[in-house]
Amino acid sequence: MNTRVKSIACAATAVVLAACGGSSANKETKSPMTKQNWGRSADGQIDLYTLKNAKGMEARIMNYGAIVVSLTAPDRSGKYEDVLLGFDSVDGYLKTHPYFGAVVGRYGNRIAKGKFTLNGVEYTLATNNGPNALHGGLKGFDKQLWTAKDVSQGAVPSLELTYVSKDKEEGYPGTLTAKVVYTLTDDNELKIDYTATTDKDTVVNLTNHSYFHLGGPSAQGDITNHEITINSSRFTPVDATLIPTGELRQVTETPFDFREPTRIGARIGESHEQLTFGRGFDHNFVLNGEQGVLSPAVRVTEPKSGRIMEVLTTEPGVQFYTGNFLDGTLAGKGSKVYKQRFGFCLETQHFPDSPNKPQFPSTVLKPDGTYRSTTVYRFSAQ
Ligand code: BGC
Repeated sequence: MNTRVKSIACAATAVVLAACGGSSANKETKSPMTKQNWGRSADGQIDLYTLKNAKGMEARIMNYGAIVVSLTAPDRSGKYEDVLLGFDSVDGYLKTHPYFGAVVGRYGNRIAKGKFTLNGVEYTLATNNGPNALHGGLKGFDKQLWTAKDVSQGAVPSLELTYVSKDKEEGYPGTLTAKVVYTLTDDNELKIDYTATTDKDTVVNLTNHSYFHLGGPSAQGDITNHEITINSSRFTPVDATLIPTGELRQVTETPFDFREPTRIGARIGESHEQLTFGRGFDHNFVLNGEQGVLSPAVRVTEPKSGRIMEVLTTEPGVQFYTGNFLDGTLAGKGSKVYKQRFGFCLETQHFPDSPNKPQFPSTVLKPDGTYRSTTVYRFSAQ
């Protein structure tokens, strides 16, 4: 057992240092993370990790689906509350739900008709969203058991989750080793570093599918009062099945212009073909930041609590999804019924259907390369 694993086990059971063979050296290496058994999936034991930073912010993350179960953030009075939709126990996550908190992969978002061609070979994926493939298939990365490792640096908690996706799993070529490292910094940031390698040419597009309501658990109603700013001058319009047409359309004079702070609800009800197709916002925005460089992408504020969330990413796009398909059939944390628009997602990503759109930034990963992607969700209040 290495020191880190040991410190996690000791912290988890709150065993005093003596029982962990402790010395003062052990005390210094005590992890800022604890671990508890949270249940079982068909693939094995599910563990829930609690990461705490020096300010008292807390993230709970499980090895099933690499799901962020909860994340606290301060309001303007300094009160830390959970800002994520999800469930109180593991059972909700094991049933069908719309990817609450999960890492989606191997390919986040849609691939048209579940088909793409790579090096002259056509690959067929399950069509699990009308005629299209969505979020990696029937058993995507969101339903897999990942291998966890505590990689905390001193008092800064960091959890590494690894999943090896076999060649042909869900129809994708190549064995892909995906790693996601969640770090809770002392600047109240949840930082997510994704890497992946493959043994054959493949496509990869990883993201996190957390649903936010910055008002916290007691907030009433939907997220339309949040104000959002997106650092994007173009978006990728879609067809009726939400597949990009290939066009990069200017946001100017459209409901998609969020370059200045705008209430999410301000234009969501306008009569616009794209809003009809998405039942609201469910679109990929082309970010103005340089791809590969961690750049400011989105800023969201919630007027009642004063909470602010900033999203920075190295990705070229972000899927702004306003929870349009939440329909009141799921009861989540505290038995709250999640109705339409009770949460929003900001899924940093390469553009949907890139494997069929040579004009979009490439999602091809080759054996001699490493997929790298970083996204930061930073919290503060005003
Ligand atoms: C998609 C939505 C979908 C949601 C939940 C988003 O990434 O763009 O269309 O309903 O995920 O699956």
